[in-house]
Amino acid sequence: MKIEKITLRHVRVPLVEPFRISNGSVSEKDGIIVSVFADGVTGHGEASPMSGSFYSGETPESTWTSLREELIPRILAGRPESIGDVNAILGDGNPFARAGIETAFWDLQAHKDGVPLYAALGGTRRPVESGLAVGIYPSISELLRAVEKYLVEGYRRLKIKVEPGWDTQPLTEVRKRFGDIPLMVDANCAYTRGHIDHLKSLDEFGLIMIEQPLPRNDLEGHALLQAQIRTPLCLDEGAEDLNAVRKAIALGSCRIINIKIQRLGGLTNAIAVHDLCAEAGVPVWAGTMPELGIGCAQAIHLATLGNFRYPTDVESSLRWFVDDIIDPMIRVTDGMIRIPEGAGSAYRLDPGKIRKFMVREESFAASQTSGSTVH
Ligand code: MG
Repeated sequence: MKIEKITLRHVRVPLVEPFRISNGSVSEKDGIIVSVFADGVTGHGEASPMSGSFYSGETPESTWTSLREELIPRILAGRPESIGDVNAILGDGNPFARAGIETAFWDLQAHKDGVPLYAALGGTRRPVESGLAVGIYPSISELLRAVEKYLVEGYRRLKIKVEPGWDTQPLTEVRKRFGDIPLMVDANCAYTRGHIDHLKSLDEFGLIMIEQPLPRNDLEGHALLQAQIRTPLCLDEGAEDLNAVRKAIALGSCRIINIKIQRLGGLTNAIAVHDLCAEAGVPVWAGTMPELGIGCAQAIHLATLGNFRYPTDVESSLRWFVDDIIDPMIRVTDGMIRIPEGAGSAYRLDPGKIRKFMVREESFAASQTSGSTVH
């Protein structure tokens, strides 16, 4: 393929409410939109780390630097002909930056072939079930109000964030108020092995799963806990690559895997984890950071693959953000997201919204002669 240029645009969109998890809180969403122009078409991707750096070590700043100084020069010099080439050139590391550029090439390829992204990924068009996620609130009454406000959109399950001191009481109150709704919790690594006896008490709440209770690399600890608890454990932070997932399955660390395009460094890696889990009989679901619309749209397309068996964390654009940079915005109706018709992701970038929320922009043109970078 003949790459003309690659453009980076850093956008920042205010959240409708602060998002607090066990490790920190954010009130704005940063995303870096990567656009690849080649062969007369354009593909968009999103690199989307948390600005607080509390989910992973990556920040918007480090991701921008890694894209402009490492990955984009490497891609322009490497002259990829296929997605396989793109992945080989990008190598390992920098998962969020990597995801931004790798997914842009998937979107580009789907546009070139005139097919929807889900078809390019090997999925089939179908509505995708969406689940509501809510953060940690200062009080139980605020938590219940938030759940009530958003559940009217018909979400197919509720996920609440937990941490030591904020688990059995909110769960008791949620069960009391909302009855037998499909319910799960996410701890974002907030507990330790010392909490295993306490975590066993969560069995009584009939949860679909407990997501990442223990530290990210403690696969053995998760296996110890899973052996003593009926509720399935799900790895998120700990499912950092194919090897970690393979080891987790072998150890019995979990019974479910959360697949995040950002954490895994792109769609090719996400599909590889999906396929590995399918072979092992371990169901998966599509998580989010949450990303802005470009990243979330890709997660929706990915979630059409066969082993995605639980609702995705992708929600309505306006659930988290005061506005979104895509047209149409993502909408949840009766708890389902229906993918628009069209090639690629079929959610178009809205140039006016990009201008409105843009923090900085930089373009990298492919040199006609040497493949080196010019700005
Ligand atoms: Mg999680």
